[in-house]
Amino acid sequence: MKKITGISASKGIAIGKLTLCFSIDDKISKRNITDVDSELTRLNTAKEAAIEALNSIYLNALKRVGEKNSMIFQIHIMMIQDEDFFGAIQTRIQEEKVNAEYAVWQTGKQFSEQFAQMEDEYMRGRAADVIDITKRMIRILDKSLSNGLDNLKGCTVVAAADLMPSETVQMNPENVLAFITKEGSKSSHSAILARTMGIPAVVGLAGSFEELTDGVQVIVDGSRGEVLIEPDNEVLEDYRKQQAAFEQYQQELKLIKGTKAVTKNGIEIEINANIGHPSDVKMALENDADGIGLFRSEFLYMESSTFPSEENQFKAYQTVLQKMGGKRVIIRTLDLGADKQVPYLNLPKEDNPAMGYRAIRICLDRRELFVTQLRALLRASMFGRLAIMFPMITSVEQVIEIKSIIEQVKQDLTKEQIDFAPDFELGIMIETPASVLLSDLLAKEVDFFSIGTNDLTQYTLAVDRMNHTIANMFNPRHPAVLRMIEMTVTNGKNAGIWTGICGESAADTELTEFYVKIGVKELSVTPSSVLELKKAVQQINL
Ligand code: PEP
Ligand code: MG
Repeated sequence: MKKITGISASKGIAIGKLTLCFSIDDKISKRNITDVDSELTRLNTAKEAAIEALNSIYLNALKRVGEKNSMIFQIHIMMIQDEDFFGAIQTRIQEEKVNAEYAVWQTGKQFSEQFAQMEDEYMRGRAADVIDITKRMIRILDKSLSNGLDNLKGCTVVAAADLMPSETVQMNPENVLAFITKEGSKSSHSAILARTMGIPAVVGLAGSFEELTDGVQVIVDGSRGEVLIEPDNEVLEDYRKQQAAFEQYQQELKLIKGTKAVTKNGIEIEINANIGHPSDVKMALENDADGIGLFRSEFLYMESSTFPSEENQFKAYQTVLQKMGGKRVIIRTLDLGADKQVPYLNLPKEDNPAMGYRAIRICLDRRELFVTQLRALLRASMFGRLAIMFPMITSVEQVIEIKSIIEQVKQDLTKEQIDFAPDFELGIMIETPASVLLSDLLAKEVDFFSIGTNDLTQYTLAVDRMNHTIANMFNPRHPAVLRMIEMTVTNGKNAGIWTGICGESAADTELTEFYVKIGVKELSVTPSSVLELKKAVQQINL
């Protein structure tokens, strides 16, 4: 038996035979052609067929993984139709007199490399999409280059150098026990889709990927990010037990639906969901969240090619509030900058972006952006129980300034005879050491605190959350971080306001008892962690 380790991308255990999907990279040959017109016709036919296929994948994906996760296929259609891209392929065929497969592949690689070199993280992420559409067109042009994913036999573990988003979503979960890839990261599209579809996945196996051979038996442990090749009977037996326990645990979690997160000694904790898009509300409700504890509004900005208008933002916030039907929805104002970039804001390139021009610093500097968002939020407050929260606070003065801008927005709306709710909560994120140390004073200015443990860990421990080299030092359980949290909660309590946690470590069930003990009132986590956390709270007896 051999064990190889990658990145845990989606929880669960799978045991089965491996289907190794080959990469088409080495199989595209260059042919010289004489009939340019008929090659261009082949290309056009492939383009139309690719668009048709993508349309039906989009419709299929809508049903399986929701609107947000399916949008990628609409983007693929736009990319194929892009005149620069398609024109470059045509020119290559005409000028170099080469076969369409080769022209598509060379052009696709060139465009993908250009995307990969862009500074903006979102644009860099599009490099994989260019390769995805390129391979789609090539496989239409030459059927022998199919990688077999659309024709999987029986139940199998799929292994591929990298799975394109369209390949992941096309896999029938009934055929695919798990997938493992050489490339990829926890936040790659395919990993996100695997989690949404509930398929165990290990990505980023890098060099160890070469250890895999077609047809071999493997165990995929998605929770630990491990793949066991040709396990002996004893190991198999052990993993079968773990698998059964995992499945039983998932079933048990469903029984928790409809119950409240109350400890054995009667302390109730609000368990909310973190969302990044209105379409995520469905997952939040399905997993029985008490409300939305963090709507990362910047994703509306990242999805758009221009600054989203007041009307567009209003509609998104209104949708979430209406769908949550009176449950509290905490919407965080724009938190762009650092790792979240949009090209149209033209943010300066910084040496130290995590400590740079981001979040509330941008909003207080570029008032017009902030006022647009606040107007949209206030208008939406009529449609549910809104709370507004501000990120990256480092001083009391910032909060006073924010409150005066809100007052101005209220006055403007009143003058314009536009309705807004008279009472919505205002809170701040506690995610910088400065805000923790000032939390006694800040608590006098707001209705609640929500602790962002991702950034609080980064700034407290001086460990860049994006730096892989020191990833092992990023420890939200570090005593210094826990002291920061306790200090915030205590200062909040003394001033009579509640404190929640919306960073990733809110879902760390090893810390749940500590959080409850010190007086945290709310925990907000990804929708798929809500039930597990409710269960953890229900088991506590202080
Ligand atoms: C945090 O910092 O913990 C947080 C919730 O905000 P984000 O992860 O969006 O920076
Ligand atoms: Mg943060």
